Amino acid sequence: MEKTGQKPRILLVEDESGIADTLQYVLATDGFLPVWCSTAEDALRQFAAEPPALVVLDVGLPDMNGFELFKRLQALPGGAQVPMLFLTARSDEIDRVVGLELGADDYIAKPFSPRELVARVRGILRRSVRPAPSMVSPAPAAPPTPPAALLPPPFALDEERHQIRFYGRLLDLSRYEYGVLRLLVQRPGRVFTRDELLAKVWDDHSDSFDRTVDAHIKTLRAKLKAAVPASAPDIEPIRTLRGTGYALSEDLPETLA
Ligand code: CA
Repeated sequence: MEKTGQKPRILLVEDESGIADTLQYVLATDGFLPVWCSTAEDALRQFAAEPPALVVLDVGLPDMNGFELFKRLQALPGGAQVPMLFLTARSDEIDRVVGLELGADDYIAKPFSPRELVARVRGILRRSVRPAPSMVSPAPAAPPTPPAALLPPPFALDEERHQIRFYGRLLDLSRYEYGVLRLLVQRPGRVFTRDELLAKVWDDHSDSFDRTVDAHIKTLRAKLKAAVPASAPDIEPIRTLRGTGYALSEDLPETLA
């Protein structure tokens, strides 16, 4: 296993920057050295330069199917010894990971909790190698914890860029997801009915329905769950008021380490 200093190097192949940001953060916090690649080509180059301790591999990449990349990585020098963990978004991808017995060490279905992914990474490394003690238990709290005043707030809205950060992590939002969350974030605690959200966020809401709002809330919640800090896995930022609508929770911790 290659090392950089004492930290196991994790190649993170993921084209969605929001997910990659979150995973890099939790991996670094847990004592790993994440190396992010947004394309298969980049991953092949990084792997050839220095085989990592483990690869986290998204199946849906822009330039190559994740399964194909998996085979190519395995064919590289040292590739067969490096454990690989798939990230999958669809059940048919999971069927392939399991059914084809590609030899991947594990998989995680999106959306997943960052904490769960780190636990899996740790488990695979423990099973697959007999490393120095420092590899099994990376020094905790590797990055220094900034003072509370510098920690990011629950939500930061950047209207010029149409971006929202959740505890400092940039969310990868569709246009309507952004529109809905922007309204909620601007008025924490205020209940928005489905009709209100349709009228304020959708251009032409005459052919949209309540379930359109519900579907977007569902994907928003999944993205927030994927970005939630590992130190607070049970946070639920969007409240449902049955038969009424949705509101941003007013009980969110102000900052999280
Ligand atoms: Ca992807």
